[in-house]
Amino acid sequence: MSAGYGRLIWRDGVFMPWEEATVHISSVGHASVSAAFEGVHAYWSSTREMLHGFRLREHMQRLLDSLRMSWMESAFDADALVGATVELLASWQAPGKDLHIRPWGFAAGTHRQQMVPRGTPAEIAIETWEFESKLGQGRTCTLAVSSWPRFHPGASPASMKVFSNYHNGRLGNIDALARGADWPVFLNASGHITESSGACIALVKRGRLITPPLSDGVLDSITRRTLVQLAREELGLDVETRPVERTELYLADEVFLMGTSAEVLPAVEVDGFPVGDGRTAGEITRAIESRYHDTVRAVTGDHDEWLTPVHLDRAAGA
Ligand code: PMP
Repeated sequence: MSAGYGRLIWRDGVFMPWEEATVHISSVGHASVSAAFEGVHAYWSSTREMLHGFRLREHMQRLLDSLRMSWMESAFDADALVGATVELLASWQAPGKDLHIRPWGFAAGTHRQQMVPRGTPAEIAIETWEFESKLGQGRTCTLAVSSWPRFHPGASPASMKVFSNYHNGRLGNIDALARGADWPVFLNASGHITESSGACIALVKRGRLITPPLSDGVLDSITRRTLVQLAREELGLDVETRPVERTELYLADEVFLMGTSAEVLPAVEVDGFPVGDGRTAGEITRAIESRYHDTVRAVTGDHDEWLTPVHLDRAAGA
């Protein structure tokens, strides 16, 4: 078994050893263009001594939605994928650990033709591995507006979480790193801020939380939905969803990235302009990060509807 990876992969209804979940060389290449994926987290709750998948069903539904928009068909519904994931997570038998879940769907079989045709059956695989959450550890990042603009949502919808959308993100990542920043921020054709390569963005100005609208070319992020709701309902913040100009980031009181992997990631610099004191997260960002931490780790128990319990004694292959 490869270090750090789960001993099992779920593949179209079957739990199999990690090493055996292989594909033929002829099925990579053009078939990857239509493939869709998700990134999901399961967090350990010390309060409840239990692991929970976070908004698992919504992630699985977004995977199926991406496949549908990619003209592919899955034999599984969201509930079946949630059930398979819970069993996989339980198979880790790793109390105290947080787990990353990677479900993806790809054109089944061999595809020599350039265009995977409409109605192609999608095979679904689910992989899991341990990760270390950075919530509440004072982590920060620096941002640079990408010299590569965001792909036009009319050409490839940002709402589709397909691997092919990520080449633009990859170019932006390499560009940001070359310019000494950690992550890119993409502008759309109107010069509006969209998102980063694997996370959404928000800023705080005069106590208000501001984030670009989905229609500017932003993935309908589940973390963004979560934080907007927590900010409104639990912190009493006004939230504006509206087009954001590049210079608003330069004048913002606080800026942060948000996403399953990014969690809540405060930015301390944008294009060389310091954000806040240029070293640490602002007060509102810290409050949002703390609410998110308490929510995913079931400290408060205010949002049980977002948490899928995983009982470690009910594992696949146990
Ligand atoms: N935008 C992009 C391009 C992403 O890849 C991600 C990560 N899935 C996000 C935003 C954040 O989405 P979520 O909160 O659902 O993880």
